[in-house]
Amino acid sequence: MKVLVINCGSSSVKAAVLDSETGERYAELRVERLGTRECVARDGTEQHSIPEYDHGRALAEFLPKLAKVGPLAVGHRVVHGGECFSTPVQIDDLVEDQLEALSPLAPLHNPANLAGIRAARQCLPDIPHIAVFDTAFHSTLPRRAQYYALPQELSDKHGLRRYGFHGTSHSWVAERAAQFLGDELARLRVITCHLGNGASVCAVEYGRSVETSMGMTPVEGLVMGTRSGDIDPGILIELMRKEGLSVDELDVLLNKNSGLAGLSGVGRDMRDIEERAAQGDDKCRMAIAVSAHRLRKYIGAYAAVMGGVDAIVFTAGIGENSVAMRHRAAGRLSFLGAHLDEEANRNAKVSRSNPVAEISAPHSRVRLLVVATDEAHSIAASTAELLGRDAIAKELIIPVAISGRHIHLTQEAVETLFGPGHTLTPYKALSQPGQFACEERLTIVGPRSQIEKVRVLGPVRPKCQIEISRTDEFKLGIDAPVRNSGDVDNSPGVTLI
Ligand code: AMP
Repeated sequence: MKVLVINCGSSSVKAAVLDSETGERYAELRVERLGTRECVARDGTEQHSIPEYDHGRALAEFLPKLAKVGPLAVGHRVVHGGECFSTPVQIDDLVEDQLEALSPLAPLHNPANLAGIRAARQCLPDIPHIAVFDTAFHSTLPRRAQYYALPQELSDKHGLRRYGFHGTSHSWVAERAAQFLGDELARLRVITCHLGNGASVCAVEYGRSVETSMGMTPVEGLVMGTRSGDIDPGILIELMRKEGLSVDELDVLLNKNSGLAGLSGVGRDMRDIEERAAQGDDKCRMAIAVSAHRLRKYIGAYAAVMGGVDAIVFTAGIGENSVAMRHRAAGRLSFLGAHLDEEANRNAKVSRSNPVAEISAPHSRVRLLVVATDEAHSIAASTAELLGRDAIAKELIIPVAISGRHIHLTQEAVETLFGPGHTLTPYKALSQPGQFACEERLTIVGPRSQIEKVRVLGPVRPKCQIEISRTDEFKLGIDAPVRNSGDVDNSPGVTLI
């Protein structure tokens, strides 16, 4: 399927029409420095100066050209899906409102994503728009990896928990690694290291994300281009006290002025930092050493979290290209069974057409891989998959009803059991309109034994009825008929307490 993938950053737009299966690009658009006089758009080989354009204006002007290629759907990258979205979702007005409500969780990213969604839905109202979330892959984090050790009421009130990001990349490269190894991801423990301007590590245990280094926001974890990654939170308190920094100043410090840029003093680009480090620049050497040390620490920790590891994957700008960073992170891991082949590491080259290179020695039990990430392809594939699933679901509507054991009562029986004037207390609505599970639970007593805490369902009915399974029937010691609901004549009786 041809899918238009749109990725709106705070000051940029990347869009491409690509084949969801092969990843082949049919058309591409890149807009940079939105909102400034230097804003430019590149589409194909042409470059246009579009000073002071915002997301909406840029997309309104350039999307029609991409649309001519004939995409059947639009996949939007959305950074934060919060608690609401753990899988891709088709966007309608309600979903837009929900995304708007999530903006405070990712103030740098979600408003830009939403601006792109609004503009694109206006331009292309006749094809489905799907939101694919960076956080979704990490919805499988166990609670122990989600919680911060803060008072739970405060965490619950503000959604303070670890969500994780870069999910489209971690899942994509983990899957490519499994394919390369000729195995199923569901049988492997993989540590994926996404090392770009933003950077995070993920422990993918048998196909599910069980730990990742970014948390509630994309600031936690590794040293990044301009983000600090992990720091002692006490430092923030010190800086507020000693430097009088405001909330906004702390935000800029942690997100824009820290990381490689803060340590090196020469900007965030790893190529420049490596070049200067090679010439003896001590700050640049320190920037590389701190980043690599942090990464090694996470790799060791994630091997411990999963109780072992089968493959370690390096991806994104630094992971795919920096021989030195891979050497520092993956050398001396032989205690884990991971042996780096230095020459393979020096020669590794990956691209979209040749996405995997192995850098471990032949006898290495843990396989070390460089994998080219392709987040746009990952989003296109998720978009097509959701639409394919929906199409199948629309063709095959299979009603399935399952009921646990339960009890229906007359009003007379309710009053006999719970006292005169008692009415049933709704606990949870059921899928059948007007029906509800009640707070009231009863013990069913049969000739052989009894079953406790069986839920009463409301509202009251003209006849009392219990519904049980064959094994319950055996346990109670009665011979219950299989009949339509409500047809209770001549069925065996039980006692309700
Ligand atoms: P990304 O966010 O994935 O585009 O990655 C950007 C980062 O990758 C920047 O820090 C670049 O300096 C870094 N990068 C790209 N190519 C190389 C290279 N050949 N060697 C070292 N770092 C590189």
